Amino acid sequence: MSLLVVGSVAFDAVETPFGKRERMLGGSATHFSLSASFFTDVRVVGVVGGDFGDEEMAVFRERGINTDDIERVEAGKTFFWSGRYEFDLNTAHTLDTQLNVFADFRPKLSDESKRARMVFLGNIQPDLQSEVREHLRGAELVALDTMNYWITSVPEQVEAAIRRVDVVIINDAEARMLSKEPNLIKAARKILSWGPRALVVKRGEYGAAMFTQDSYFAIPAYPLESVFDPTGAGDTFAGGFMGYLASRASVDDEALRRAIIFGSVMASFNVEEFGTDRVRRLTHEEINRRFSDFKRMTHFEEIPFERAVRAAE
Ligand code: AMP
Repeated sequence: MSLLVVGSVAFDAVETPFGKRERMLGGSATHFSLSASFFTDVRVVGVVGGDFGDEEMAVFRERGINTDDIERVEAGKTFFWSGRYEFDLNTAHTLDTQLNVFADFRPKLSDESKRARMVFLGNIQPDLQSEVREHLRGAELVALDTMNYWITSVPEQVEAAIRRVDVVIINDAEARMLSKEPNLIKAARKILSWGPRALVVKRGEYGAAMFTQDSYFAIPAYPLESVFDPTGAGDTFAGGFMGYLASRASVDDEALRRAIIFGSVMASFNVEEFGTDRVRRLTHEEINRRFSDFKRMTHFEEIPFERAVRAAE
């Protein structure tokens, strides 16, 4: 077993300036696992209600994702989230959150799950993230996501969870809020001082940045003319990032950099259509083509500035 994700499996209702969906498959673990499944074997730990049908389960199966650890509470309803995006699509306004079976979610890890080599702790209660981490003593690399709700309500629990992981993947506003630092570089330094090896900061349409103790790496977002629905972009990014890392024998700085590109590639596809629609029918060829585009977009040759050289002669 190479990659495990713990997080929400949901029904989402989403409204963007370009359209509306009343009920579609969503959730952090869903977006993450679909994305990661293009790179490695993935297993999901989550919970759904009796209203979660075969059609939804088939979406995971079609991508070869292991769903044995998705608990089904027949008498309950699946987590439901409803959101609306403004014209610029940058901020999601949450209209409704119905936790339903997710309210009492206690992740149950099978022996197989406990043997995972890499783990993504999706956005759930931070003490639960810490608890799950304790069961995964053999994991080589554990990453975590969180959200403003937990940072505001239980910041000390979020910090404690971060102290137990190797990689933190959050957005820029969350990094500032968490560190109480308006400057992103100082914010990163503070979060890294709690112990993680890398901090990955998602910056929406402006791309992503990665901070480690001694390096900084940043890339733009893929230039898209048609962004349709940003829901799940963050988790899809994390899925590409972790999926790629799990496909490698070891994780060095070069692999981390390529993982940032694969995360950005996957997120760029996710936002082109509603929910999981685009990622579900992606091909490896499309992924590789966009990976090459990123190389071309960001590559430049280092050539000494001639006038300066001549002047020095
Ligand atoms: P993102 O990648 O940040 O856009 O995450 C979007 C997904 O997060 C949606 O599909 C929602 O179902 C899910 N979500 C929204 N609010 C929560 C929450 N409080 N806890 C867990 N998952 C959530």
